[in-house]
Amino acid sequence: MSFFFNNFPGFGGDDDDDGFSGFPGGFGKPKPKKDVDTTKYYKILGVDKNCSQDDIKRAYKKLVRTKHPDKGGNEKEFQEIQVAYNTLSDEDKRKVYDEYGEEGIKEGMDGKGPSDIFDIFTGGRGGRNVKRKTKSVLQQMEVTLEDIYTGKEKYLEINRYRICPKCKGNGSKDPNANTKCTGCNGRGVKMVVQRMGNTILQSQQGCPDCRGEGYVIKEHDKCTQCKGNKVNKESKMIKILLDKGAPDGKRYTFEGESDEMPGYEPGDVIIEIKIKKHKLFERTGADLTYTADISLLEALTGFELLINHLDGRKVLIKSKPGEIIKPGVIKTVKECGMPFFDHPTNFGNLYLKFNIKFPKSLQDNQKKALQQLFPKIVMQIKDINSIKEKYNMTDYRESETNKFATGGNRPEENEEENDGPRQGGVRCENQ
Ligand SMILES: [Zn+2]
Ligand SMILES: [Zn+2]
Repeated sequence: MSFFFNNFPGFGGDDDDDGFSGFPGGFGKPKPKKDVDTTKYYKILGVDKNCSQDDIKRAYKKLVRTKHPDKGGNEKEFQEIQVAYNTLSDEDKRKVYDEYGEEGIKEGMDGKGPSDIFDIFTGGRGGRNVKRKTKSVLQQMEVTLEDIYTGKEKYLEINRYRICPKCKGNGSKDPNANTKCTGCNGRGVKMVVQRMGNTILQSQQGCPDCRGEGYVIKEHDKCTQCKGNKVNKESKMIKILLDKGAPDGKRYTFEGESDEMPGYEPGDVIIEIKIKKHKLFERTGADLTYTADISLLEALTGFELLINHLDGRKVLIKSKPGEIIKPGVIKTVKECGMPFFDHPTNFGNLYLKFNIKFPKSLQDNQKKALQQLFPKIVMQIKDINSIKEKYNMTDYRESETNKFATGGNRPEENEEENDGPRQGGVRCENQ
């Protein structure tokens, strides 16, 4: 079975008697509260209280053009515009708002509100405290070490299903046009008989004909925008403001940005950052390690090193006068590493490793000059002629190694009884 939704929670496995109707029903008869402001959102958008959805959309688009922070608008003001638009552009939420005002929307959304409001968002579950949500989606996003160092603003396009604005999730042109599914006789589930050996198993499964909804929409009644699917695929750019010094795998949650489905609250989109390996810097926690190429002369007489740091600034590092850099040594530049996550005004350390570049060869006169400068470190060998064994060296090769006691690079084939440990291992496994 394959469904249009990749996000169909509770299908078939829902042990509740009412299964799911797929529709926000059971509006009940909430008592309208008096003295609540149910006009603020209309005023914010600058529209009339009984305006159409098209009017709301038009007003919002106009405000985006002038009040968006990118266009120099105030961020807080624009947030209010968005909240007002998100509420009024959704018929269900608009109904709640018209009755209960801002308070009703907030209560309905976070589930702490009166049960009759709550019902509207959970598909009419008779006041039970069950909130059904579509699946949350985890998405990875690659970022650079530079992005993390500077706390960059990133954008990621997400694709998800959203309730069709044309039919408001009905799927049909006329909400009364739905007809009972013949496949399941309107029950939304089907009995399936399975044979397993001599046993016959009967189980209930969601009806594939109506996707468990119990009704189907006739072809000519289907909404022209969503083709009867009730939802449309939509993409959205999400803005992620990276935290300076964020660790690899840090997650950012965007509430309610996953799939929308009638009768469900949308799940969250969770963005997990994956930090790409850097060419020059290696990161460990809040510390950075940089490997610098220096010449043998610089190792012996000192150096100045210019590093392009992760925010683009140039940093000059000087060796201590008279100090010799020995192979394998690690030096520390304090507080020149990554900003601390949560305390970005403090920094970790920068560690320097050195790749000392030796000359390829020396000429005789250079050798002589050096011999005068440096004493011979290796001891002077007496009676050199009395030693019989003399060797030359070759370059190390992996293929020439003898990794096994029997010699060579490969274990001996057909090993017999005397291979104690391996026999023991087999016996253990058999127990
Ligand atoms: Zn059916
Ligand atoms: Zn539609």
